[in-house]
Amino acid sequence: MLREFILNTITRLPNCFNRRLICLNGNPDLVYGPAYSRYRLFLKQTEPYFNNERQLLGAVNRAIRRIPYYRDIYGDLQVSSIQEFESTIQFIDKDLVTKHFDSFLNPDIDLRKCDWGTTGGTSGKPLRLVAPKSRYITELATMHAVWGRAGYDYHPRAVIRNHRLGKGVSYRINPITRELIFDGFRLEDSYFETIYRTIKDHNIHFIHCYPSTAYEFSRYLHRRNLDVSFIHAFLCGSENVFDYQVDLIRHTLGILFHHWYGHSEKLILAGYCRHTSEYHVEPTYGYFELIDEHGRVIRETGRAGEMVGTGFHNNAQVFIRYKTGDYAEYAGGLCPACGRRVTLLRNIQGRWSGSRIFNADGTFITTTALNLHSGLNAFIEGLQFIQERKGELRILIIRSHGYRKDHEKALHRHFREKFKKDMNIRIEYVNRLQRLSNGKFVQLITHVKDQ
Ligand SMILES: [Zn+2]
Repeated sequence: MLREFILNTITRLPNCFNRRLICLNGNPDLVYGPAYSRYRLFLKQTEPYFNNERQLLGAVNRAIRRIPYYRDIYGDLQVSSIQEFESTIQFIDKDLVTKHFDSFLNPDIDLRKCDWGTTGGTSGKPLRLVAPKSRYITELATMHAVWGRAGYDYHPRAVIRNHRLGKGVSYRINPITRELIFDGFRLEDSYFETIYRTIKDHNIHFIHCYPSTAYEFSRYLHRRNLDVSFIHAFLCGSENVFDYQVDLIRHTLGILFHHWYGHSEKLILAGYCRHTSEYHVEPTYGYFELIDEHGRVIRETGRAGEMVGTGFHNNAQVFIRYKTGDYAEYAGGLCPACGRRVTLLRNIQGRWSGSRIFNADGTFITTTALNLHSGLNAFIEGLQFIQERKGELRILIIRSHGYRKDHEKALHRHFREKFKKDMNIRIEYVNRLQRLSNGKFVQLITHVKDQ
């Protein structure tokens, strides 16, 4: 509770105060505690290679013993090898978990003491997610290790994501997480100049943002021919990456572009290493499989399939062989550049995408930046954006039980403050969301050509 309180309130302190704190706080072990330090050490030791078969079999057999969904299907089965796992354990997905929500929860755990969230607004209907509070230790430690491959070592970093700052506020400082937080919704030259001057003055080497934001900011840096030698890397996640983004950032500007894949269910985490654009799947985080359309595991380089995860760090809500709906290409089991023996992937195509919604003046917001917080997400069953022309947006919503007038007001406020004042936003209630002609769901259906 204290930790949450500090994290929530500290950014409201004056920047001059936090600027001093951020310098004092140079040791992550002190901030995140001894469990974090121990886990970082474990990650360091297992970096070259980690055989996670024991973790997988342990997770599966524990699930069959304790979790109603698995107990009902598999009874007293004991899985003793990877082959047996692949031939007997069935896949699950978001729809199935939604339908049998309670039977994936651990009856031995007090769920009131867990963290509750939802999958982001990136898919039709959000799924409620539950995890123990201590989850942040493995999460942060693994994330920091992934960023470490881009040279990040708990440096102060700029964050340009989904924060909206008040009028006249250029940035805020969070001295605990060592973040300079910028407004993720003012992606225009005058504000880019503020960001540039601020990070240069503070000698910030790492910028944490969406790939689309990294690209827009890089276009500005390039146009103005600014000195970028102090920027070591963009740390980017949560969106698909396009070649034109990497070309500009890495090849034209010479800045390291580090991308990682993660997802709300937290079963798979994978990031680039310093020398390649291939995703290195972290074997301590969960058990990873890439499967073809028949559910067979892909082990041949160059073949593409769906990403499937089994988590190791959540005993409250247990997912075994969970189909993520994200796709990738298998790229081998050994990285010649860094020497790690881990599963490598390329061309990850996520459910999330960097689709743009345009204001009337041509500036835009990406759909990822519009994600709802879990409080609101719990009251809607589906969400989709339709944009016919710039400056206009229809938001289709499927209401859930308990949806009230207050929620509509909160939704209006949420979207209103992300766009320019003259944006025409209309909320419409529907029973089903729209599909593309090929039957695929996308969060944004747009008729604006500049995508
Ligand atoms: Zn590598």
